[in-house]
Amino acid sequence: MGGEVRLRLSAEEPDLTRERVVFRFVDGDQVWIHFRWFGDVHLVPRGDLASHPQLGRLGPDPLSAEFTSEALGALKRYLLDQSFVAGIGNVYVQDILWHARLHPLVPARDLSPADVTRLHRALRHVVEEGVRWGGGPGERDVWGNEGSYADHFQVGYCTGKPCPACGTAIEELRVGSTTSYICPRCQAGAVGGKH
Ligand SMILES: [Zn+2]
Repeated sequence: MGGEVRLRLSAEEPDLTRERVVFRFVDGDQVWIHFRWFGDVHLVPRGDLASHPQLGRLGPDPLSAEFTSEALGALKRYLLDQSFVAGIGNVYVQDILWHARLHPLVPARDLSPADVTRLHRALRHVVEEGVRWGGGPGERDVWGNEGSYADHFQVGYCTGKPCPACGTAIEELRVGSTTSYICPRCQAGAVGGKH
């Protein structure tokens, strides 16, 4: 956490009260590593980097060619990522996006501050509704009662039914391995562009 890796192309002597690790190469070049707070240095064969317990879990470096806008990802993927916000699954994400009037494939980076505010409100609202109705299909409340949120879906799993806001038929959209349910009119936000 906070640190420096410095290259020294000379025989200059490092301050060993400051540098935590010093590599000296046969040609005299040196690499000095200093940690401001704390850090680790691991010796890892190049081929094992992807399976390293710490590095293997990281997403791509933001400056690498691998980090494309697609890697940044569609909004829906963020909402389902438990490290971004906990507890949202495919059942609840549908109505959250509908309440927020956002398309599931809109890139997260394209959200305006107003979108983010609506999304935040929609997240809380839908989760509150889920709790209120005792959960979704197959879920039970603390008393063992089966959840009835499915009776209150707005667009989720409602293919062909009218949108509660505008009456347009709800459409089904395959996204990766999951299905999204959207109102093509209310959630028309351009996919991959500004809206
Ligand atoms: Zn609609």
